[in-house]
Amino acid sequence: MRNPILSYYLVCESCKESNKAKGVNKWTKQRLYKRHGSYVNIKCLSCGFTPQHINRLYAELNLKIVTPLLFSFAAASYWLGGYLFKTYWRDNPMLENDIIIIVLMGYISPLAIGGLVLSMLVKMRESFNIRI
Ligand SMILES: [Zn+2]
Repeated sequence: MRNPILSYYLVCESCKESNKAKGVNKWTKQRLYKRHGSYVNIKCLSCGFTPQHINRLYAELNLKIVTPLLFSFAAASYWLGGYLFKTYWRDNPMLENDIIIIVLMGYISPLAIGGLVLSMLVKMRESFNIRI
């Protein structure tokens, strides 16, 4: 299965243009190497040169997927923190530290999870971009 998180590119060995690498579906370069060896049959979209050395392929995060994903964590923070604030904090004459912590956690925890997810996605990209 193609990795939806990554977009694959190729810097052509012949014309040095960078263009989209069609047909790459491995999540790591090691797996691509095991399957095809050092040279892969991917055609440069500018000049048609093929085959290409495997280290001329690189991956970037697919922002069409990653951006909405990160926005959803920000929205979750806004929603959950806001919900807890309205429920426990507002108009509460007996405001206690516990309530402040609960509301803050409501805002922070989705952002923390989003940060963790982002760091995993960056690692996924790095593991493809390792040179062999
Ligand atoms: Zn080319």
